[in-house]
Amino acid sequence: MAGFRSRGHPAALAAVQRAIRHGRPPHALLLVGPSGVGKTTLALDLAAGLLCQDPDPATRPCGGCAACHKVAHGNHPDLHRLAPEGAGDQIRLAQVQRLTTDLALLPMEGRWRVAVIESAHRLNPDAQNALLKTLEEPVGAACIILAADDPSALLPTVLSRVARLRLGPIDPAVIAELLVERGLADAPRAARLARVAGGRPGVAIALAEDPAALLNADRLARSLLDLSGADRRTRLAAVPELLADGAALDDSLRGAPPESEPARGKPSSRAAAAPARRPAPAERRRAAIRVLTTWREVGRDLVVVARHDHGHVRHLDLLEQFVELAATMDTRGVLEFLERLDALIDAIEAYANPELTLDALVLAWPRARPAA
Ligand SMILES: [Zn+2]
Repeated sequence: MAGFRSRGHPAALAAVQRAIRHGRPPHALLLVGPSGVGKTTLALDLAAGLLCQDPDPATRPCGGCAACHKVAHGNHPDLHRLAPEGAGDQIRLAQVQRLTTDLALLPMEGRWRVAVIESAHRLNPDAQNALLKTLEEPVGAACIILAADDPSALLPTVLSRVARLRLGPIDPAVIAELLVERGLADAPRAARLARVAGGRPGVAIALAEDPAALLNADRLARSLLDLSGADRRTRLAAVPELLADGAALDDSLRGAPPESEPARGKPSSRAAAAPARRPAPAERRRAAIRVLTTWREVGRDLVVVARHDHGHVRHLDLLEQFVELAATMDTRGVLEFLERLDALIDAIEAYANPELTLDALVLAWPRARPAA
């Protein structure tokens, strides 16, 4: 138990512990839950537990042996990780083929070969079909763990061959404790970050490590409230800046800038001479989704305040504005906006144009009635 890094998720954690103790993990396990909720952390806990060298299965992962250290540092030869790559932000056929070849070899060091596929919802159809062969004819002593934000992106044939564990948001108090423990924030700041992160420890840690990210998140949250008093032209004019904030927030929450692309703010000499690079479609899509998911939280907060349920407000620092707006806005209009927003998140995932989608959405946001 000492070596577990996961927080919260008691049911999923118990299932993982059982698999480790009995040495019988599923051939393929799908972890489903919102991004930043702890799927990869739990996947690596399972990997460490399977590869740990502690003689007592009940205390694996011990966190102290050579295998546990290698898993923690990402250099265990029996642990294989896959994640989306390139401008399309997808996991491609060649990546899966490389993985399945690796898995077909015998374990080199430990009892198991473990594969962790992050953002498995971004496996393209060819890659999924290639993976399917491995899922259909499992090679002995291999465990494939898929982590997906959205399982509906996976083929039914893939879904039917994986065991599934769902991870939901965890208690903000547990997240705040984690931030304090790691020295990332003092108690009041930790409590605020945990609330803004909405039960996702990975998001809270990213926000704590990057003060600019929290500013971006704040600015995006406020932007929706500010738009309620703006006319049509002002709303449309705000879209490019909203997308830029969304892109900056996305960079922070995803960690380092994507590989093979120049880091933002550090232009190479070639980039300096050329006109500003237009972000890749995948980046623009992710930026728009950050804007929309932030607005979803803010819209929900507004509805919660209109119903006088202040205890459940996520963006507490905006409470005063929520109270003011709740008195001058039609709650039904806000609910309709939220419904539309959910549909548009799906549309952007399915390759709708992010700019046009955001244009439509800023115009759909209800206007506040002028104060009497
Ligand atoms: Zn160990």
